[in-house]
Amino acid sequence: MCSLESFKIDLKGLKEGETIFKYDLDNAYFEAVDGPEVRSGAVEVELRVQRTSEYFELNFHSEGTVNVPCDICLDDMEQPVSSDNRLTVKFGEEYSEDDDLITVERDEGRLDVSWFIYEFIALSIPIKHVHAPGKCNPAMIKALEEHSAARSSDGDEEKPVDPRWSELEKLKTIIKD
Ligand SMILES: [Zn+2]
Repeated sequence: MCSLESFKIDLKGLKEGETIFKYDLDNAYFEAVDGPEVRSGAVEVELRVQRTSEYFELNFHSEGTVNVPCDICLDDMEQPVSSDNRLTVKFGEEYSEDDDLITVERDEGRLDVSWFIYEFIALSIPIKHVHAPGKCNPAMIKALEEHSAARSSDGDEEKPVDPRWSELEKLKTIIKD
């Protein structure tokens, strides 16, 4: 089990100026954050934290591959991901998130970035992701082809009357009587 402890940034303890954090995300990380879209992968993350007296500017750069199910055959496929994201953090009375401005409780002074990183990666996955042509699971492709062939031959047969129309016909007869 991967400890997510290293993703808790001790903002209070940072000196002014820039501090760089690096994370090598592996399968254990994705298991630990337990997000719905991505269950495994290998992604390198560089986090640059710029501290001024009042604010922290966090710039994330993520690059690597994640494993997600192919849209067509549902087998896992490797999806390259790359993203750049920014968060601004300040201290306040209680924790809150307002778009990309995060308020961290002053007494706590730490920000857990493990879920933010997960979200940035998940959001960078293109909506449509499929295997390269010919790389899909052949058994699944065959089943899909048979299924769509069966459906199109159904269409050739005489169409039964839409049940809504027959109900309407009945109604018309009642009105006439
Ligand atoms: Zn596929």
